[in-house]
Amino acid sequence: MTNKQIVFAGEIVLPAIGQGTWSMGEDPHQRCAEVSALRAGVEQGLTLIDTAEMYADGGAEEVVGEALTGLREKVFLVSKVYPWNAGGQKAIAACEGSLQRLQTDYLDLYLLHWSGSFSFEETVDAMERLIAQGKIRRWGVSNLDVDQMQALWRVVGGKQCATNQVLYHLASRGIEHDLLPWCQQHQLPVMAYSPLAQAGRLRSGLLNHPVVNEIALAHNVTPAQILLAWVIGHQGVMAIPKAASVEHVQQNAAALNITLSAQEIAALEKAYPAPRGKTALDMV
Ligand code: NDP
Repeated sequence: MTNKQIVFAGEIVLPAIGQGTWSMGEDPHQRCAEVSALRAGVEQGLTLIDTAEMYADGGAEEVVGEALTGLREKVFLVSKVYPWNAGGQKAIAACEGSLQRLQTDYLDLYLLHWSGSFSFEETVDAMERLIAQGKIRRWGVSNLDVDQMQALWRVVGGKQCATNQVLYHLASRGIEHDLLPWCQQHQLPVMAYSPLAQAGRLRSGLLNHPVVNEIALAHNVTPAQILLAWVIGHQGVMAIPKAASVEHVQQNAAALNITLSAQEIAALEKAYPAPRGKTALDMV
């Protein structure tokens, strides 16, 4: 289907575009459309679904649970734990809550949503216990900058981390300074959230930018598809756009087949240059 793939933990090969779910489960009137969009996405090959106990207070996980009916084995299911639940018995209880809402008995990947409450030692210990119990297959982190990744790497078992999920889009390129190269050197896949720039710094106008539009026209695709193609053009990076319509999901899946030329990439990056030095990690 596509030549753009990502490898998790050296063993799982997935298309470099998955599906986000933030804001799903908030409006009961949207539930049907959200379930249909997620199911259509899986059928189109967008088999990684990213959710979190935080989204709609568990409501997004319930939508995903419904969407997974008959599809569980096709899906690489990711959820996230609040920092204040990411240790000890709280982690076990939080994971069990997610599994119940998702109507499944295991997660393919469980992420620390952001750091802060428990030490990395405590979180790694809890994640490894969840693996031993068969509740999760692997674990990772989100919103950690390079200094925190280095600290995690010094913790016993820390190198088992399978990904870092961070904000990344054409108008927010701070990770290119040191975090992205660090992850690439350590063969750690990066999951780019908000790849369509609906959040984070400098988001305004990106989908309407003349350079983005011109390149979209040349490929006969939409500006959003160009943004996704740019994100996944980076080694070891996958994108997890959230789409609540079948039309958007189809477009996002088709973006796997777009290859930007060197000139097009240069034009996009000239319009939205990377910061010259270190900047604080952008996040929602
Ligand atoms: P995105 O950048 O994915 O943008 C989502 C918006 O883009 C929605 O309004 C959606 O509309 C629209 N959209 C989707 N596809 C298209 C398309 N082909 N053309 C035009 N518009 C489109 O933003 P998110 O912030 O949702 O990020 C994606 C995912 O990343 C989240 O859903 C979540 O899973 C994860 N995330 C993780 C965070 C973390 O801290 N770890 C923080 C934020 C997000 P519509 O829904 O109508 O289709």
